Amino acid sequence: MNLYNRYNLTPVINARGTFTPLGVSRSSTITAEAAAAALQSFFIITELQQRASEAISAWCGAPAGAVTHCVASAITLSISAVRTGLDPERIATAPNLPQVPNKVVLPAGHAVNYGHEIIQDIHLAGAEAVLAGNENGCESRDLESALDDPQVICLLLVSSRLTRGHGPDFNQAVKLAHARGLPVIIDGAAQDMRVEDLLACGADCVLVSAHKYLASPTAGLIIGKRDMVTATLAQEKGIGRAMKASKEAIIGVLAAIDERLELDIGLWRCEQDHKLKTLADRVGVIAGLTAQTLVDPVGMPFARLAIDVDANGYGRDADELASALRDGTPPIYLMEDRLEEGRLVLELVPLTIGEIDCIGDRLEELADGY
Ligand SMILES: *Cc1c(COP(=O)(O)O)cnc(C)c1O
Repeated sequence: MNLYNRYNLTPVINARGTFTPLGVSRSSTITAEAAAAALQSFFIITELQQRASEAISAWCGAPAGAVTHCVASAITLSISAVRTGLDPERIATAPNLPQVPNKVVLPAGHAVNYGHEIIQDIHLAGAEAVLAGNENGCESRDLESALDDPQVICLLLVSSRLTRGHGPDFNQAVKLAHARGLPVIIDGAAQDMRVEDLLACGADCVLVSAHKYLASPTAGLIIGKRDMVTATLAQEKGIGRAMKASKEAIIGVLAAIDERLELDIGLWRCEQDHKLKTLADRVGVIAGLTAQTLVDPVGMPFARLAIDVDANGYGRDADELASALRDGTPPIYLMEDRLEEGRLVLELVPLTIGEIDCIGDRLEELADGY
């Protein structure tokens, strides 16, 4: 079925990464078929969550896991879980728990905006954010002074290319929180290929978007200690009702984890390198453009392509080129956070060679003289 024709929609080429306003990722046929079959079936949902927990454990070695609607909801629900535990009355009344401590410490540079402010996820749990350190960084002593407050309930860390400033060291930060009896939640939304690394620092749970590189239907995974996972899932009797995972999402997650377990990472990396080289070679012969690969700043196992635009040689500057690509047919979207430096950044992971050729063609067509 061609959805673009049937519903009058615009096909796009997404070189912007796992970007929510463009549909985030592309599921494999196996995952898409599993999710579609789930839509026509009934299940015992607790059994689906149980299987998800087993699959998550088999995948990354954590004691337990569960599926929520997405990571934004997993942040809210895991913080709410710290406030309610398994107490049914607290769960039913949250987030209005005026007697229950509610301060969540996070490094100032981890107060990211991934389409909205992460601090809003904290507020939805009836909690309040306490920023440690400043935009330049967060030292151990900044964390210690923020954590030394009886109203603090947990530490939230973010592993993302969106964080700012240096530090803190995650191992050290977890130690400081645990020394005070406080659990640690890590938002690793786009870090599914590094979950084991993130768990290794001792955090109580790591939150991952299953619809990013795992490419399942929309879903958030909470991965970690059993108590934390159970109390987070228990929020479905309270505020979690509005943030629950669908049956098709949980089945899609199971299929996507199966595929991840079978993934030949060496081969996958070669495919990614081949795509980067294909586009870099095309860019290399266009006057005014220079291509360069950029390794992922947080350690995901793939690179992105930077294209530096010399306006004199190319006939347009980076900003004009990005809008021309967006305004063409089909629209081509890329990362625009470094346009001021004259740089376009493209993520090619979900793209086909056909789409990459289309990007190369358009870069040629838009050059001065065409
Ligand atoms: C994408 C992202 C989120 C939100 O994830 P969803 O599953 O789409 O809600 C949260 N934090 C970071 C750092 C992200 O990159």
